[in-house]
Amino acid sequence: MGNNMKYPRVAYFCMEYGLQSEFKQYAGGLGILAGDHMKGAKDLDLPIIGIGIKWKQGYTDQMIGKDGKPYDSYHNYEYDFLEDTGVKVTVKIRQRDVVCKVWKVEKFNNATIYMLDTDIPENEDTWITGQLYGWFGEERIAQEMVLGIGGVRALRKLGIDIDVYHFNEGHAVFAALELIREKMSEGESFEKALELTRKQVVFTTHTPIKQGNEEHPLDRLQYMGAFNGLTLEQMVYIGGAPFNMTVAALRVCKKANAVAKLHAETANAMWSHVDYPAPIIPITNAIHKPTWVDANILADYNNPEKLWSAHMENKKNLIKFIKERNGVELDPDVLLIGFSRRAAPYKRSDFIFSDESIIRPLLENKKLQIVFSGKAHPLDDTGKNIVSNLVKMSKEYPNSVVFLENYDMEIGMMLTRGADIWLNNPRKPLEASGTSGMKAAMNGVLNLSILDGWWPEACNHGINGWQIGDGFESKDTKEQDAHDLKSLYKVLLEEVIPTYYNNRSKWIEMMQESIKSTKDAFSIERMLKEYYEKLYMA
Ligand SMILES: *Cc1c(COP(=O)(O)O)cnc(C)c1O
Repeated sequence: MGNNMKYPRVAYFCMEYGLQSEFKQYAGGLGILAGDHMKGAKDLDLPIIGIGIKWKQGYTDQMIGKDGKPYDSYHNYEYDFLEDTGVKVTVKIRQRDVVCKVWKVEKFNNATIYMLDTDIPENEDTWITGQLYGWFGEERIAQEMVLGIGGVRALRKLGIDIDVYHFNEGHAVFAALELIREKMSEGESFEKALELTRKQVVFTTHTPIKQGNEEHPLDRLQYMGAFNGLTLEQMVYIGGAPFNMTVAALRVCKKANAVAKLHAETANAMWSHVDYPAPIIPITNAIHKPTWVDANILADYNNPEKLWSAHMENKKNLIKFIKERNGVELDPDVLLIGFSRRAAPYKRSDFIFSDESIIRPLLENKKLQIVFSGKAHPLDDTGKNIVSNLVKMSKEYPNSVVFLENYDMEIGMMLTRGADIWLNNPRKPLEASGTSGMKAAMNGVLNLSILDGWWPEACNHGINGWQIGDGFESKDTKEQDAHDLKSLYKVLLEEVIPTYYNNRSKWIEMMQESIKSTKDAFSIERMLKEYYEKLYMA
């Protein structure tokens, strides 16, 4: 994108960053996207910096017990590559000064990220930056005050000039309260300060699930000190009552985006009862290729034999990885389906097992093997039951179904390179984007997916992957599930399996088409260009 002098300077605020598997600062897709955003910004030499929190324990580590159930465990991680900026800022939380130490992270070929940390001797509230998404109430508010209010203060103290504040998710919205407070302390009225703040802020919304859009009671925010000098009326004007973080972000920004075209439609419908300045525009997510895509695959995809052998190497690496972790030896000549996702009900992780009369013969007669991975949120019992059921299936079909515990970037990378098929069967339209499918597609792993999230933008059925069903939606989830299940089995039995075993040259052509049709369209360079054109410079 060339000379960066004319590009606005951006501070990107996010609760989590997925930079490298062992740097436990991420939970899932949001963090991976943020990590990729920072790496892409560095590659392109764009004037973007990140603001985040340095988590002591990160997100939960998942352990599968002898009883086949998932358990949460937390470890204190220490990192020797964090650079001390020497800067500390203070945020008043529950009437107490909380000191936030500011670390700098540049180790992963990423644009500089500043991470705030309250785990220092001068604090009583060292726990605030302990667990990522551990809690929902006062603790979450305290964390978000550190990110938003502390983040802006850190920028001032570091002496970094910023033109655009990008809130990646509503978690960061308290930063706007600090931007408003700054202007009011210089004599502006609330209305004027809000108007000026709006010119500086952009916002990305990520979830079409209602409960994923955090709300807090106003009395709790007041007690925590999150009003940051504003009045109750002003807070309600911004975020409603209760205070909704997404609504607030929509009202303090000049422009907001959703993370796929379909998601933009869903998001605008979802917030149609709220008035905010402009419609939410789509900027489809993307991935950082050097992180996620095997260089051999990209180099050789024009040559069918070389592509196939590079793929088989990735598949064998995955099989070896599984053997080392789980003791199960999968067969490189049997079609391998990968599925790793957060265990949330709408993702329907155990969907493929719904009709035993269909799935059992495929798994027992060596037509199919499936590898799963995925964590449930520590407080989500429904999600944990889904994980338990996947583990149960791995015991039911010990030679053809595997559950890899503790889904992380490494597992994500192994699976999106080494599987033959990437299965995605969410209840439409609840999957906002789904970047794992992009990783798979560029590695020549064929997507078999519901037409949700990013997939309608890429899918060319039978050419570069497959769609499950026809985009059917229903308010009646039973009806939707029945419809989608029929479609899943139909395309699996009539197209995917026969192509794999009887028409290998067509399969390889599809792999080539998968790579060709996605490698630029869903690369982080395209995405960053859009962020600049449609959001930062808008
Ligand atoms: C890519 C990735 C994600 C996001 O994938 P989805 O398709 O949104 O589920 C989440 N977690 C990890 C570890 C990843 O690598």
